[in-house]
Amino acid sequence: MYNPKSTSATEFISDSEIRSTIEYARENCNNRALVDGVIEKARNFKGLSHREAALLLECSDPETVERIYSLANEIKHRFYGNRIVMFAPLYLSNYCVNGCVYCPYHAKNRTIRRKKLTQEEIRAEVIALQDMGHKRLALEAGEHPLKNPIEYILESIKTIYSIKHKNGAIRRVNVNIAATTVENYRRLRDAGIGTYILFQETYNKANYEALHPTGPKSDYAYHTEAMDRAMQGGIDDVGIGVLFGLDTYRYDFVGLLMHAEHLEATYGVGPHTISVPRLCQADDVDTADFKNAVPDDVFCKIVAVIRIAVPYTGMIISTRESAKSRERLLELGITQISGGSRTSVGGYVNEEAPEENSAQFDIADHRSLDEVVEWLLDLNHIPSFCTACYREGRTGDRFMTLLKNGQISNCCLPNALFTLKEYLKDYASPPVRAKGDAMIKRLLEDIPNDRARSKASEYLEKIEQGERDFRF
Ligand code: SAM
Repeated sequence: MYNPKSTSATEFISDSEIRSTIEYARENCNNRALVDGVIEKARNFKGLSHREAALLLECSDPETVERIYSLANEIKHRFYGNRIVMFAPLYLSNYCVNGCVYCPYHAKNRTIRRKKLTQEEIRAEVIALQDMGHKRLALEAGEHPLKNPIEYILESIKTIYSIKHKNGAIRRVNVNIAATTVENYRRLRDAGIGTYILFQETYNKANYEALHPTGPKSDYAYHTEAMDRAMQGGIDDVGIGVLFGLDTYRYDFVGLLMHAEHLEATYGVGPHTISVPRLCQADDVDTADFKNAVPDDVFCKIVAVIRIAVPYTGMIISTRESAKSRERLLELGITQISGGSRTSVGGYVNEEAPEENSAQFDIADHRSLDEVVEWLLDLNHIPSFCTACYREGRTGDRFMTLLKNGQISNCCLPNALFTLKEYLKDYASPPVRAKGDAMIKRLLEDIPNDRARSKASEYLEKIEQGERDFRF
């Protein structure tokens, strides 16, 4: 029985509701009046239900798809402007006891080189990341109760926040580790994490169980209810996602939106972010063995319809996608991207030779952070290293309320410009610095409020003179 307010996985992610939604979308996608009505509703910027979103996803006539893309772009600009938040993953350990068939960390893989960073090695990785200009990290680790217990993750977070190297600082540590207990989520919250991220991989229970044959992750309910426990543990920014390519995109698209609806209905706050990874080639994983690969044009539609369905949720794309794919997706609703990423353990200090591979998957965008920043500037997106909301306590429903009221735009643009200015001063190459300074000069004029504009110019001048870490 489908019940978005239930805390039982198979009730808030209802298999029969997903199947009947897919059926409904198939039967009605050529009903012009119905589709127009849904697009009209979406123009109120209040989002869509999973049924309405599934209907739009099923539309394939070019004119409707163009309308969906243009609305997604409009919604993105309304809530997020042209800011793109930058982050990098930091892989702590690839020891893992699970048997996930799509992930090379699986316990039976004997070819991947196993590695776990010591606190000293973490320090070196973080200094390398700070020297690139990063301010936000996403911690990644395999699940291994002995090698990577929660104490190791907590100690690593403490180490990361403590490192002050030149003008560098990691100001927000997001964490992507295996589903855990309420008590452990509370400890993560107390350690000052930003978002707790966990991908569902697939919402299809039967397929989930086949893809996760062994290890703690094989428990569908425990994994699917993780965000409930995270919220009960006091973490109010959670990031969900599916690994597209494991099950049919239709099934997981609907499941993802039902999960968002469940969190909103039960805790009054939807997911802070949605990630849309696609399955990649990896050490002993061949994507050809998976039959549900999502073609590029369908993937664009997925991103655009998610943007329309949940206008207030950040959307993340990683370096699993190529520069070309990322360029297109930025126009359709993506708000955060990683740059200069390494998916190997210790990869920021030592680029590893292929034969000593410890990487989780092959990335498609190999550019440095500076190249990514330049590319964003050329495309007229504002590269932002902002962490202000989290540091001002604007998380969970406080963040969502501000965003929904459009108020966040009063401080987001200046905050993005302050952090871009820091990047330009401390890390950018000369051509990137020139392009970035020109953008800041241009955009300063766009701050509508006189007081905010003059305060912003004052802060930017102070950053120019060497002071750091200003925010509204
Ligand atoms: N171990 C944690 C867990 O079980 O959720 C999370 C960390 S794992 C390093 C991060 C994510 O990488 C996984 O949730 C999965 O979606 C993704 N991943 C695994 N194998 C992948 C592959 N071959 N291609 C792309 N992404 C992959």
